[in-house]
Amino acid sequence: MNSNTNASSKMVLIDETASIDLAKRLLQQKQINLGDVVGAQVIDVNSSPTVIVYSYPLVKYRRTATSTELGHCNSSDDAKKLCQAVKSVAGIPLKRRNMIVIINPKSGKGLAQQVWQQNCIEMLSKHANINFKNENVILTTRANEATELAEHWDLSDIDGILAVGGDGTMYEIIQGLMKRKDLSEIRKIPLALISGGSGNAWSCSILYLSGMEKGLDSLQTTSTNMAFLVARGKFKALDLSIAENNTQGKMYSFLSLNWGFAAAVDIESEVCRCCGGLRFTCYAIKLIWCSCATYNATLHYLPLSRDDNNVMSKDIENGSSKNNDDGTNINIDVLLENDLLPSLNTPIEGKGWKTIDLHQNQFFMASQMPTLGGDMIINPNSKLDDGIINVQILDRANACAFTKLLLDVETGEHLNGSAVRVIDCVALRLEPKDGLVVVDGELVEREPVQMQIHKGFLNAFCT
Ligand code: ADP
Ligand code: MG
Repeated sequence: MNSNTNASSKMVLIDETASIDLAKRLLQQKQINLGDVVGAQVIDVNSSPTVIVYSYPLVKYRRTATSTELGHCNSSDDAKKLCQAVKSVAGIPLKRRNMIVIINPKSGKGLAQQVWQQNCIEMLSKHANINFKNENVILTTRANEATELAEHWDLSDIDGILAVGGDGTMYEIIQGLMKRKDLSEIRKIPLALISGGSGNAWSCSILYLSGMEKGLDSLQTTSTNMAFLVARGKFKALDLSIAENNTQGKMYSFLSLNWGFAAAVDIESEVCRCCGGLRFTCYAIKLIWCSCATYNATLHYLPLSRDDNNVMSKDIENGSSKNNDDGTNINIDVLLENDLLPSLNTPIEGKGWKTIDLHQNQFFMASQMPTLGGDMIINPNSKLDDGIINVQILDRANACAFTKLLLDVETGEHLNGSAVRVIDCVALRLEPKDGLVVVDGELVEREPVQMQIHKGFLNAFCT
């Protein structure tokens, strides 16, 4: 950690306005960028109470710790006032927060524990004043454990839930949270995925939306940047879809429904887990050039109508908004119905629905986030709470064109050509005749699957 220990002369603080002005002046004097600050603390230096500021400037996409002595104070009361003033000026939480972290030691290359210890603990618990009680730091021991835990946690004083691992770890947590009876209150608790897996779409998407376009392929940079967002404490609404089929029932999806080629890449590349994120690219190239498989299905979808947003209208009818803060009058069962969809065994008919035949399909993905990982910008226009399921379809392209398209996904350029059909919708049903079906990275039965997006249902740490 870098430190700047130039001592200042003693100072006296008069009232709150004075301490805010003083904090502003000192932070400027010490050239501390307000947006880099994660915390401030009073410590004793040579028997005077001294305010230390912790900031994490971005150097080559990485956040590196710096501590700066802001100044000595005459009394510890003054020092505490200055400390709070610094936090207020820097726009970070004033109070100590309590959080839960769940670490999947088997995600990706098995680095999640190391990521947590080396890149997060000091920043979050020491510098940003976040309290992780012993029982709230959990290492998973088996698949699905996170779901069981999340369903029963005592969340009464919890200000954030963190997953260290890949998207599958976050997916498991969300499945547990969504089963809770107190869902209408706890759905507001902000969530963060600190990348430690091979698929880290959640963290890459949030960092991409915060303006970080490079460095997303490195766990080192994405994990420190995500921890930094948690430390800064800002969060926003995040869409959640309810997907359902007859075998698995309801699945709560924040990422994507993949079918055919994209599902095969996701699932069959599991054997190359040791390669980290590279496993997807290598396996995709192999599939395109060695198997040339195509797939068949029927897709029904309800297009997004921008003037008459289907998802929003439900909130208005209910006389409440999902984004209000008091949480009153929200009937969670009503909000959690896929009311735009008929039951799975009933044919789709009705106003606005469209149907297309996916014949010899090469690529199909319905996604809700801008990126699928550091080097896959699937939809640069996607926002966390736009209430849109973005469907991308490619049929009948030759292997060269298909490979080029996949390489272009790295920058989001693939949408500039005309080959990919893009549909923005709020609900869909896919009836696959062949191929695998995957929801948020989890393999599900090959049978009709349908989903509807619920705008801004959860909260996520972001800028
Ligand atoms: P990756 O991005 O590498 O796939 P994920 O976080 O998605 O990493 O985790 C993959 C799967 O690991 C999860 O779906 C979860 O069920 C499983 N899992 C969690 N903890 C353990 C464990 N201790 N041992 C084995 N599997 C686990
Ligand atoms: Mg979105």
